[in-house]
Amino acid sequence: MQKKDIFVSDEELNVQRDFAQKVKEIANKKYGRPKANIRTFGCQQNVADSQRIMGMLKDMGYDFVDNSDDADLVIFNTCAVREHAEDRVFGNVGTLVHLKRRKPNTVIGLCGCMMQQEHISKRIKRSFPHVDLVFGTHVVHKLPEMLFKVLSGQGRIFENPDIDGVIAEKIPQVNDSKINGWLPIMYGCNNFCTYCIVPYVRGRERSRNPEDIIADLKEMVANGIKNITLLGQNVNSYDGGITFAELLRKCNEVDGDFVIRFMTSHPKDCSEELLYAMAECQKVEKHLHLPVQSGSSRVLKAMNRHYNRENYLSLVDKAKELMPDLMLTSDIIVGFPSETYEEVKETISLIEKVRYQSLFTFIYSKRKGTPAAEMPDDVSSTEKGKRFRELLAVQEKISEEICKEQVGKTYRVLVEETSRIKGNLYGRTLNNFIVEFEGSEDLVGKFAEIKITSGDTWIIKGKLKG
Ligand code: SF4
Repeated sequence: MQKKDIFVSDEELNVQRDFAQKVKEIANKKYGRPKANIRTFGCQQNVADSQRIMGMLKDMGYDFVDNSDDADLVIFNTCAVREHAEDRVFGNVGTLVHLKRRKPNTVIGLCGCMMQQEHISKRIKRSFPHVDLVFGTHVVHKLPEMLFKVLSGQGRIFENPDIDGVIAEKIPQVNDSKINGWLPIMYGCNNFCTYCIVPYVRGRERSRNPEDIIADLKEMVANGIKNITLLGQNVNSYDGGITFAELLRKCNEVDGDFVIRFMTSHPKDCSEELLYAMAECQKVEKHLHLPVQSGSSRVLKAMNRHYNRENYLSLVDKAKELMPDLMLTSDIIVGFPSETYEEVKETISLIEKVRYQSLFTFIYSKRKGTPAAEMPDDVSSTEKGKRFRELLAVQEKISEEICKEQVGKTYRVLVEETSRIKGNLYGRTLNNFIVEFEGSEDLVGKFAEIKITSGDTWIIKGKLKG
């Protein structure tokens, strides 16, 4: 596909705006002021998609409610990463049948990664007749047209084309947060890790143009957003005519007092150029989420990760050399097919070498549609549980040590929220520590200097500097 063909044309977007006007008229007649309930499952990419869905709905005259019972339109934005999460979605969709019986005019829609899979949309069509609208990840921008078809009585709509994916710019967004902004810089994934469904449901990698990203970033900053996360399945392979490192430098040049975070990084594409950019850009976080998945080179090969233990460790050494305050976090899968206990020990020794700030550890479970699902799932669930707990215990000790090492340091934190315990605030440092301290609520959304006085396992505590 030519780069220009990836972008949805202005004509197509204008067609959608016309449909949005028509929906507004029909929905107003049908419901008075229409109300929508949007429920989001899964990752931050889905959160960003839901913000665009809400932006388009707002333009179509919809208000938003927290409860599906009060809504004229219910949309579940679903996740396909774990099979048991899919089962939960089926359960939730099943219960909406009562709502449809009580209020037959309510439109029920399903979208997201789960709906991009053909066998899922077929099952919905067959077994859930109360669902009116199913759309995949590549046609989110066509929501006005699809909703128009449903509201004008053209029957149930199922749209999940099996294509490499597109980029639709200038879609309005609704962001409920006054502090956090999610900014997609690219979509899709080309990596085909053997356990992962994402490349099959999000299409091939495609990068937004830097000018569009910077324009969105400036708008967020102008709206007072202070914590901006650049999103992509593998941001390190961003290719918008410039590299990801160059994009970070451009973001850093935007005027304003804000923090730039990013996720997710793939170790095989994490370049020294990127590490230098992180070190030199003062608005860019000094935190690197670098999913390792396993400490065994053999298992990494079976996962199709395209790096080995040694490459990974030398990358970590270089990153720490350039950024002494850098904190690393990671994802780990335990119990991958054929993983031996010796290989788990290799993962543990890697964890001890890297000294992660925290870890997201997952117990391997088969994901239908991935190459790993064809491999024998030969580690018993008892053994998986044992390995999981062993890893967790090692990590907990390291996390606690790292938190205690912060005592006496002073950090600039972005104050993100108040705790339920009256008077306490939570903020985050540039290197990803959560800091708890006493202070007044009007500090939320601002930066504060905090002297660290103690450290627990996952959190550090401190005092506001006068
Ligand atoms: S890099 Fe691997 S794990 Fe990440 S989304 Fe792509 S295929 Fe999945």
